[in-house]
Amino acid sequence: MDTQPLRFDNRFIGDLPGDEETGPRVREVRGAAWSSVMPTPVAAPQLLALSTEVADLLGLGPDLTDSPDFPRVFGGNALYAGMQPWAANYGGHQFGHWAGQLGDGRAISLGELLAPDGARWELQLKGAGRTPYSRGADGRAVLRSSIREFLCSEAMHHLGVPTTRALSLVGTGDAVVRDMFYDGHPKAEPGAVVCRVAPSFIRFGTFELPASRGDVALLRQLADACIARDFPALADAGAQRYAQWFAQICERTAILVAHWMRVGFVHGVMNTDNMSILGLTIDYGPYGWVDDYDPDWTPNTTDAQGRRYRFGTQPQVAYWNLTRLAQALSPLFDDVAPLHDGLARFQAVHAQREREDIAAKFGLAQCGDDDVAMMAAWLQILQDGEMDMTLAFRGLMALDPQAPSVQGLDAAFYSAERREAVLPAVQAWLQQYAARLRADTLDAAMRQQRMAAANPVYVLRNWLAQEAIEQAEQGDMSGVHTLLEVLRHPYDVQPGRAHFAGKRPDWARDKAGCSMLSCSS
Ligand code: AMP
Ligand code: MG
Repeated sequence: MDTQPLRFDNRFIGDLPGDEETGPRVREVRGAAWSSVMPTPVAAPQLLALSTEVADLLGLGPDLTDSPDFPRVFGGNALYAGMQPWAANYGGHQFGHWAGQLGDGRAISLGELLAPDGARWELQLKGAGRTPYSRGADGRAVLRSSIREFLCSEAMHHLGVPTTRALSLVGTGDAVVRDMFYDGHPKAEPGAVVCRVAPSFIRFGTFELPASRGDVALLRQLADACIARDFPALADAGAQRYAQWFAQICERTAILVAHWMRVGFVHGVMNTDNMSILGLTIDYGPYGWVDDYDPDWTPNTTDAQGRRYRFGTQPQVAYWNLTRLAQALSPLFDDVAPLHDGLARFQAVHAQREREDIAAKFGLAQCGDDDVAMMAAWLQILQDGEMDMTLAFRGLMALDPQAPSVQGLDAAFYSAERREAVLPAVQAWLQQYAARLRADTLDAAMRQQRMAAANPVYVLRNWLAQEAIEQAEQGDMSGVHTLLEVLRHPYDVQPGRAHFAGKRPDWARDKAGCSMLSCSS
């Protein structure tokens, strides 16, 4: 293979101790942050989708992305010069319980690419084969879950939500066997590999693992390496740097979950191994998008019993996860006060963001205490009326404050009966909202602009992803390509694309892949 003119500087493995053993033999890895392991080659790598924006970000031109080497590299069959594959070691709290060593069981990082603009991007294959952290599993990913990760990463980015990105989706030509609902009906499915891209994939669990083992030396090395690489502004903060670092993690996490609440995203598996230290949305598994507004909804059938990771509890779960991280980092602190301060920072920033989002979503200059109550009342109506969250907020944009009418909201109702039931409450609320708009300082144009920037038209509705997946499983990738295109401009009404802004069709209500997703992926 031709040597590519790409620059790699693999600091994670350069700065941190590695496992002495190489290769995928499953093992406990102590005293090391990573293990050297090669992707396992696949039968017939084929490029199924590419995010040209991410390719541009990385400085990968068409000469490279169009070449036959590209699917080979990003399917795991070849390396560009400078790539040094590794799997990261980490632990985590899963569903509230300490789970010990987890690690990258099917993700393999290829290297840290230095983009032409000087930015550093870690390239990571998901589904690239077994690693020391695969435990009993195969290290692979199915096409359906890979499409979901590929599309949602890009959709989130364009919504303005911090996230890992996705460069490519490569079909492997190999079958992967999954028992989707863990009910004794395993099935062979097409396999795929996504190349994820982020400044770093370090997780809360990266620090929890050495802390759980009393390995303070490694914990400190990880913290220092993370600050140096991912929080360079703090490198000179001296003795204050751990405190400032933790405060920033808390702040970023608060901003992250506020975004999720704003756009109606449910992560589905907020285990501490799935929490990015950079405050990025990471590990797209059984996530979902709220259709009819319901704070108790979780898309994750694996969590159906405990319902820990419901839409409405995400901020509290994020806080709990930060308390786990604080605990893990505590050996680095003589005094725990800065850790408490960091956690308080989460609460303050989250409350602040919530208010900013209320103002933006309602089209107000500022959010006052009454507006917080007005939002609570509105969300209660959405829930009681089984109204589509995305359509209901966009529907408010059409409201004439001089003559408020429920008409703009009609498209948001899933049932005539529910509409009937909440109609008086909706009408009363609209009067109140209209009066509030009349008293506000923003003019109509400014209001529309604010609202249009905070309330998306297009989100990756579960059933839209499912449609594209079913097409793709028949060999037709056009649905994935179209969705990727539509979701690049989620706040702009796009002519001829009403289908993608529509509410959930009846066929999708209780369908696997739409309202029910398992961790099997
Ligand atoms: P998740 O909840 O999907 O983020 O995964 C939790 C842990 O299981 C992580 O350590 C993953 O790397 C690992 N894992 C999930 N699926 C697989 C798989 N098919 N093969 C190997 N490891 C996996
Ligand atoms: Mg994970």
